[in-house]
Amino acid sequence: MERKSPSIAMIPAPGFSHLLPLIEFSKRLVVHHPHFHISFFIPTLGPPSPTTYSIFESLPPQIDYTILPEINMEDLKTLDPATQIYQTITLSLPSLRRHALTSFASPTHRLVAMVIDFFSMDALDIAKELKLKSYVLFPSATTSLSLCLHFPELDEDHEMVPTGFRDLSQPLKLPGCISLQSKDLPDPFLERSSEAYKTILHACKQLRLPDGIIVNSFVDLEPEVVKALQESNQNQYPLVYNVGPIIQIRSTNISESDSECLRWLDNQPRNSVLYVSFGSGGTLSQDQLEELALGLEMSGHKFLWVVRAPSGSANSAYLSAQKEDPLAYVPEGFLERTKGLGFVVPSWAPQIEVLKHDSTGGFLTHCGWNSTLEAMVYGKPMIVWPLFAEQRMNAVMLTEQFKVAVRPKGDENNNGIVKREEVARVVKILMEGDEGKELRRRIQVFKDAAAKALSEDGSSMRTLSNLAQEWTNI
Ligand code: UDP
Repeated sequence: MERKSPSIAMIPAPGFSHLLPLIEFSKRLVVHHPHFHISFFIPTLGPPSPTTYSIFESLPPQIDYTILPEINMEDLKTLDPATQIYQTITLSLPSLRRHALTSFASPTHRLVAMVIDFFSMDALDIAKELKLKSYVLFPSATTSLSLCLHFPELDEDHEMVPTGFRDLSQPLKLPGCISLQSKDLPDPFLERSSEAYKTILHACKQLRLPDGIIVNSFVDLEPEVVKALQESNQNQYPLVYNVGPIIQIRSTNISESDSECLRWLDNQPRNSVLYVSFGSGGTLSQDQLEELALGLEMSGHKFLWVVRAPSGSANSAYLSAQKEDPLAYVPEGFLERTKGLGFVVPSWAPQIEVLKHDSTGGFLTHCGWNSTLEAMVYGKPMIVWPLFAEQRMNAVMLTEQFKVAVRPKGDENNNGIVKREEVARVVKILMEGDEGKELRRRIQVFKDAAAKALSEDGSSMRTLSNLAQEWTNI
């Protein structure tokens, strides 16, 4: 009897940037190993965005998806974002179990493994019940993974970490990683008594349980930490598979306004435009938004800015879309004064096409890991402006380790706000002068390394093939 073809169940977590790497990983798997079938089971907190839907609708035939019953945002609204995401998965487990069982009984495929997001750890129980191999797709740097793997033992060290990582007794130096200070660490790590700390600690403890961890990074980007994890592996941690950079090749669902901004870029000189974007849901305060606008204007350089309405919380648009018109919040007269110099897009731009474009010369980014990898793949030096999650760690890596970015200084006497003069200063550094040239030269090194990792015989492609072989053999 012919053997059924292997099938993998994918369990993302809510949030565009958690879904994206699993989707792109799956697409890459079926392009290079077409005998695989993939089923997505998608926990949702509130309705998926139109961009998310367009991604589902453009999936190849080997990938199907089931949107699990929506969890009501109102029920979780008092929780911090990390716990909201985590709880969404926990509350979706009964429906996930039902659907996974149906998929298990397929007449054409044999379900062999489950790949889950870092925030979907509780789904590991289902993998265990069904005797499936289990893998986590870690959507950030290997350095962040190392922090998460070491978190449980650091938590027990009450001398080093008295009440949380906010008051570390010395900078954190994990094997093979750049040295990190309290201010560089993700918010949930800071206070031991917080709910977010407990949520992340719980997830990090479970991170030791799966059969493997698939990381959206590549060996030549973080060789020391990859080596350190391999050496300390000795059954302590799951096997780590570096398969990145896994990014979108093109934006889905290019709208009329997207085409307009791309046409504007077509008419600008090579490397002349700074692209400014804070990821899928990052937001600034009203004061900061004004200083950024006036600083861009003061720099005299061309810019393409994805504007969101201001908010007191930096991740306010991450889990639910904004309803206000962001353009109502830019300084008075700004749009008229910068006509021709700048192009302002409300809320969303076709980032991949923008970063690919020859006219784009730099990227002011909040350092989300997807944006970071996209900047590397398309060779755009950066101004780092971290907001939340592990973005401050990424910013340190980009400026001090990879040396492909410049960082503006916040005004310590004024809530860390980056003033317009400082914005103009860093824009000029990036877009003109010798320091900018050096950053451009350095990013090219990583662009080439990323292309090599993804070439037919590159490290990430070989790792993907090994994984596909392991799954085929089950
Ligand atoms: N993105 C986009 N258009 C936008 C803003 C973001 O296409 O206007 C995409 C971007 O290309 C990236 C993802 O959304 O792939 C954002 O992920 P990232 O990890 O950078 O940040 P997060 O959304 O987690 O803050």
